[in-house]
Amino acid sequence: MTGVPTVLPSYVSGGWRRPSDDGTPVRDAVTGHDVARISASGLDLGAALEHGRRTGGPALRELTFHQRGALLKALASHLREHRDELYALSAHTGATRGDAKFDVDGGIGTLFAYSSLARRELPDDTVCADGPVLPLGKGGTFLGRHLLTPLHGVAVQINAFNFPVWGPLEKFAPAFVAGVPTLVKPASQTAYLTHRLVELIVESGLLPEGALQLVCGGAGDLLDHLTPQDLVSFTGSADTARRLRAHPTVVRHSVRFNAEADSLNLSALGPDATPGTVEFDLYVDSLVTEMTVKAGQKCTAIRRAFVPAELIDDVEQAVAERLAAVPVGNPAHPDVRMGALASLEQREEVRRSLKALRDAGRVVFGDPDHVDVVDADPERGAFCSPVLLRADDPDRAEPHEVEAFGPVSTLMPYRSVEQLVDLAARGQGSLAGSVVTADADFARAVVLGAAPWHGRLLVLNADDAGESTGHGSPLPHLVHGGPGRAGGGQELAGLHGVAHHMQRTSVQASPAVLSAVTGEWVAGAPRREGEHPFRKPLSRLRVGDAVVAGPRTVTSEDIAHFAEFTGDTFYAHTDEQAAAENPLFGGIVAHGYLVVSLAAGLFVSPEPGPVLANYGLENLRFLTPVKPGDSLTVTLTAKRITPRTGADYGEVRWDADVTNAEGESVAKYDVLTLVAKEG
Ligand code: NDP
Repeated sequence: MTGVPTVLPSYVSGGWRRPSDDGTPVRDAVTGHDVARISASGLDLGAALEHGRRTGGPALRELTFHQRGALLKALASHLREHRDELYALSAHTGATRGDAKFDVDGGIGTLFAYSSLARRELPDDTVCADGPVLPLGKGGTFLGRHLLTPLHGVAVQINAFNFPVWGPLEKFAPAFVAGVPTLVKPASQTAYLTHRLVELIVESGLLPEGALQLVCGGAGDLLDHLTPQDLVSFTGSADTARRLRAHPTVVRHSVRFNAEADSLNLSALGPDATPGTVEFDLYVDSLVTEMTVKAGQKCTAIRRAFVPAELIDDVEQAVAERLAAVPVGNPAHPDVRMGALASLEQREEVRRSLKALRDAGRVVFGDPDHVDVVDADPERGAFCSPVLLRADDPDRAEPHEVEAFGPVSTLMPYRSVEQLVDLAARGQGSLAGSVVTADADFARAVVLGAAPWHGRLLVLNADDAGESTGHGSPLPHLVHGGPGRAGGGQELAGLHGVAHHMQRTSVQASPAVLSAVTGEWVAGAPRREGEHPFRKPLSRLRVGDAVVAGPRTVTSEDIAHFAEFTGDTFYAHTDEQAAAENPLFGGIVAHGYLVVSLAAGLFVSPEPGPVLANYGLENLRFLTPVKPGDSLTVTLTAKRITPRTGADYGEVRWDADVTNAEGESVAKYDVLTLVAKEG
């Protein structure tokens, strides 16, 4: 194998370091030959963590969210250029080209998704206010708001063997956006692929030193060196998760510990989905896909397949027919659809679990001890036949407790939606579940019943199948993780994943101080009037710059004209008698949109200038009715200024407050504009 050194070096404390011994061999899953040797002996893991905290953390925290997002995008593009190399290396793990794409492209896609989130959803700043400003006193001088700041530690990842590229990248992306450096410890079995990934990242020169480190080999005393500012994100077996969560240093320092462990995910077929329906075929397709992609070594794969009792024979037959058409063997061979398990030890583990599962069910497809393979030696490589079991008594314990982490699923009947919901809970917590049905009421009953036990639920039918990403794919914007047996953690979920790496602090202060801390103007903070803020480009505009415009009296003619002109002749604006009986208004009132339009007419600065466009309103509320004769004044204040990277303009969010002659707010909203940086 080219490009892989004999003993995998680790990238720690600013350089590639070799272990102090020759390590143990890591074997090719297909041929059984040595791929690399691995060891972390002699590495100073305490120093590595300190390097992350002292070098990586400060460098990352100097960058704004937008700058981190831009770096992630550049990194994703760099890795995309080298993905063929990663696909080729994946074959040694037993992965087919399709499996490799799932891992590699999925990881790169997650970087792109987080890059975009950082640039679109977060400020071009190093801190982030979270949620609304909360008034804490009647006079408006004492406010509260949550603030998110990056933890000053290292995000330690301990990963499973099955996703050597996606695993590290899906954990790295949110940590990086948050401004927290990462240390990756891949599973030894497939660490050579993660090693090459990190080598590519280091070679790119894109990341600040210390932002990403790699430890190849056992974790040694790594966790002993954790501090209260570090985090651990673990993926692997529930047993290891339990042990690491109880590590004395993790417990002593209340280290944030996120676990994502194996779970007994379900897929349920709806009673409506009889043979011949699109949904029946979708169910069979999805089950076969989840059993065979990555040879079933996916934490989200379907382990428990529930079908209506009267359809179980049909489903069994259809799935068996499809599995019979899946050639197993050398993943490099073009005919092969399913490769090998990651190691011979893993195959032994699957066979052991299958023995337990066979106490409750019979094998209806596949031979647990033998498989014919294409272009490979079935004994030297970790090959395993897809195995479909059928347990006619779904109350038996084994299918709900034993996971065979390979191409194995158990088919079980259910007789009512209530029974299905009970059976779902027997898994004690899952990462993912799916329901295949065109019956929305059935879907609702299953989703509401099963949701407390699940991190993610897919409802699949003819309507969404064309665009569905499938049962087994975690998505960057959605939660990945589940309760109970699934580890009790949450990864990804868009900005939630970023916030996990940050401290949420409630800041209580006056409006002026809160504005200064968060970089966002809040009501009650000082305003600056003078030159109209629409005449100022971003280079001169400051948060707090404001214009107060008005008053403007609203007449009956204005309201009648607006009703006529727009066609909005709702009785409260046009019919004196009916409006008088309206309990909220007691007479004719102005249209809310008339108020907003008049306010725009007041605050606008009409001549060409740096304001390029109005692109929307947010949080609009009409607070007090406006009656004929009322006069309106509007105060518009620059609330947040966000220059757009790579463009010669940026976004300005303005606070708009329209008041009447008594000073009451009649409408409040945010106006969103695009403003040139210069000119
Ligand atoms: P493990 O839980 O044994 O290993 C997962 C990770 O934890 C590896 O990086 C491993 O390192 C590390 N690890 C193990 N012990 C320690 C320790 N004491 N301190 C620090 N790190 C440690 O899982 P496996 O990868 O061996 O898989 C075993 C089973 O886990 C599978 O059969 C399957 O049931 C389940 N699994 C679940 C996955 C999921 O995504 N939910 C994914 C993969 C597996 P090292 O490899 O160096 O030992």
